[in-house]
Amino acid sequence: MNWLSIARRLAVAVGLAVAVSSPALASTNSGTGAGGSQAYEAELPADLATAKDMCALLPCKDVFPGAASFSERKGQPPYVEAYGADGKTKLGYVMLSTDITDTPAYSGKPVVTLIGMDNEGKFVGVKVLKHSEPILLLGIPESALINFNNQYIGKSVKDKIEVGSSHADSEVIGVDAISGATVTVIAQNQVLMTSGAAIAKQVGIMEQTIRPQPQYVPLAEGAQLPDWNTLVKQEAVRRIVVQPQQVGLDKTGEPFIELWFGSLNSPIVGQAVLGKSNWQNLMSQLKPEETAIFVIRTAGKESFKGSGFVRGGIYDRVQVRQDGDTFTFRDTDALNLYSVAAKGAPTFTEAAIFMVRSKAFSDAYPWQLTFLGNKVDRETGTRTFANFDTAYWMPAQYLEGGHPKIIKPDPSWLKVWKSRALEISLFALLLVAVTVVYALRDPLTRRSTHKNKWPVNAFKYSFWMIFIVWVGFIMMAQPSITQVLTWLHSLLFKWEWTLFLSDPFIFLFWVFIFITIFVFGRGLFCGWTCPFGSIQEIIHKVAGAVGLKRFQFQLPQVWHDRLKWVKYAVFFGLVVVSLFSMGLAEKLSEVEPFKTTFLVGLTNRSWPYVTFVAVIFGISIFIERPYCKYVCPLGASLAMPSTFRWFGLKRKADCNSCKACAKGCGAQAIDADGRIDHRECLHCLDCMILYTDTSGCPPLAKERKMREREGQPLTAIGKNGYFIPIVPIKDDRQLQHAAALLAKKPDPRLPTDVAVPPVAEARGIKRLWVEIVDHLWPFNRDSWKGSRILTAVGIALALAASLVWVLAAQGSASPIMVIGWWFGWSVFEVLIRLQGKRYVKDGPWWGTVYRRANVMDMLAYVGFKNLLIGAALFWALQAAGLMTMG
Ligand code: SF4
Ligand code: SF4
Repeated sequence: MNWLSIARRLAVAVGLAVAVSSPALASTNSGTGAGGSQAYEAELPADLATAKDMCALLPCKDVFPGAASFSERKGQPPYVEAYGADGKTKLGYVMLSTDITDTPAYSGKPVVTLIGMDNEGKFVGVKVLKHSEPILLLGIPESALINFNNQYIGKSVKDKIEVGSSHADSEVIGVDAISGATVTVIAQNQVLMTSGAAIAKQVGIMEQTIRPQPQYVPLAEGAQLPDWNTLVKQEAVRRIVVQPQQVGLDKTGEPFIELWFGSLNSPIVGQAVLGKSNWQNLMSQLKPEETAIFVIRTAGKESFKGSGFVRGGIYDRVQVRQDGDTFTFRDTDALNLYSVAAKGAPTFTEAAIFMVRSKAFSDAYPWQLTFLGNKVDRETGTRTFANFDTAYWMPAQYLEGGHPKIIKPDPSWLKVWKSRALEISLFALLLVAVTVVYALRDPLTRRSTHKNKWPVNAFKYSFWMIFIVWVGFIMMAQPSITQVLTWLHSLLFKWEWTLFLSDPFIFLFWVFIFITIFVFGRGLFCGWTCPFGSIQEIIHKVAGAVGLKRFQFQLPQVWHDRLKWVKYAVFFGLVVVSLFSMGLAEKLSEVEPFKTTFLVGLTNRSWPYVTFVAVIFGISIFIERPYCKYVCPLGASLAMPSTFRWFGLKRKADCNSCKACAKGCGAQAIDADGRIDHRECLHCLDCMILYTDTSGCPPLAKERKMREREGQPLTAIGKNGYFIPIVPIKDDRQLQHAAALLAKKPDPRLPTDVAVPPVAEARGIKRLWVEIVDHLWPFNRDSWKGSRILTAVGIALALAASLVWVLAAQGSASPIMVIGWWFGWSVFEVLIRLQGKRYVKDGPWWGTVYRRANVMDMLAYVGFKNLLIGAALFWALQAAGLMTMG
């Protein structure tokens, strides 16, 4: 057992411990799947994908009430027939969704569903056998998916069924979505409709789509036929390549299978591939609506004809698909292919010509060749089919009139955006409004005083209410740490825009968060818009207003400074667990009370969850935002990049000795030197109000009183936080006083002391180069002055990390191995930089202000930088075909 599987088992054990220790949790979420047990990651029979007698393994009667017996699997894609009590009367069909489509749901894995359909094409039963959607286990009861599926019963596969509202004009029948699981149900709708239609067309319930046949460009007299490379370049011949690891086998350095294929009906392509006489001979055997395609195997030992193929049977390894229609081949549809005439064609070890004999297929339109691999699960030994497709469209130059115009149906995510356009626009406007109001904070805070904060608070409190009620409870768009984990995984492994676009509100919220974090810091999201954060603060404020103020307190700063690290530990813990098991990480994300509060509702969850939320709200009466300050992994994940916010809050020299702002800072984000920790600041703007408040800010009040005594006018407060001198004078007493303070105590206008590393002194194009090197090379002379052990470990890690990337580049290291080493290297880099290059940039990345880094600054810098470098290297390796993810 290797270290990876030990870690995985450990992670699973922790998960089980969590589940076992929460019996009430199981009872609340006990949706039923196969055999009445939970379908979340249920064990399915090992030979499910291949067994002839499917219904001996699965509860087919559950999806076909009244059926007494079932046939063996037949057809391609496969289905079984359901019979009545006499054993002869055919009542309809039962199909397994994964036999037909592998459409992934939110988890990236398909929801395995058993579907019953009667002779008219009406759904009579739908049962989820297995899914991997953690949100449906802990966030939303699994029964919600069962209820969703039940909406299909009685509806016909011929209907236009879509998630959302019905539209009589376009004959769309709507089914209700599951709030918070939109992606899952859109995928499930696609699975049910695709599966039902595939079988309905095969058995004659639905008409096949008749597609117009192509007119090919003839071969001109004396024209040269294209060679193999030209055909490949033109995409008249295409390739499918499957690596061993994609079917659960060890890497061998050789593909599991490499196939080349193409259509042969075009006189130019066909004669180029087969030679003139062979092509003419082939064409003489085809009817007008039939199309011939060739397939050759150029690498790998796996047969594409299928080792279990028997005469009279169906080739179960290759299929042609066109827009929802599947075409399979019997032995009577296949011919031998002995040679390829095109110059430069590769040698091959297996070949065939297949005939698509259907008017529903047309070579004029795009289609795809699918290779159905047999994927082995290493842990359980279970075999499942995995599809590997390559799209094909006869090049336009070989079709008379070029490619026909195709109106593609909107992708599912676009349908969601269109159907909710008004709400989405309002939400986008709301986010813009928050940003604009915050950007105008200077005039707003100047209009406010410590006694009258309404110019700021009127906006802030209004936003809180809108975000709690509309965004949190109605739209259920509270962002979550699980989304951060999904972003991280997607960045490293596989970025899929469609996955993120499927939930427009969450998508827009994240666009807002991403932009505002780098412009202002996380405080704008956390302090002004986070629904859960806002509820906590409202509770605190209301409790204060109704007479509980005297019981309200802050933790001693020393304890606050220790406890604030807990949220970072929770965040890092979740990231590490997610690398081994995303499912377990999502379960552990229950440390977030968001699902209980907004998605599921307090009344729908078991007592441990409700108690957790109640405790947070209870403590919020006495301490401001306890969950935000000490536990929230989402807040921690947003705090780290806030290190690099472009615009900070203002400080003046006097802040280093005056404690007025720090005393009033509910987030306890101002230290003894008056410096603001922008990772902890929630942008309440109380300190900004004091900054220009001539009665509340002690140094300003002092100056004001002095001027009033001396009969001098009160000028406006300048950007530096002091009265603008009446006339520009050299010996301005305020500035002299400020300079004296700065000489004695730290400058509070930067979060840490100014640093001037050599990199800050480079100019012009040289500066760019020096900065790149500085990011990539963590060492300088001082790096080696500290502990020898650290130095030795560093050299070892640097060599190991480089070696692992080289191995990865050769295709011999798994992604998880590379991430493990990269993680180790990053920890070391933090230590070595703290020793020799202890600085980070403050403000915009193109600026030149550097400051001394504290540990969290360095963690944030190295973590963020190495995440981007790692993602870029992974993408490069994938693009070069050297690493396969997933
Ligand atoms: S710390 Fe967490 S709960 Fe608090 S406001 Fe930020 S994201 Fe919301
Ligand atoms: S008082 Fe100032 S530092 Fe403290 S949370 Fe409010 S804006 Fe941030």
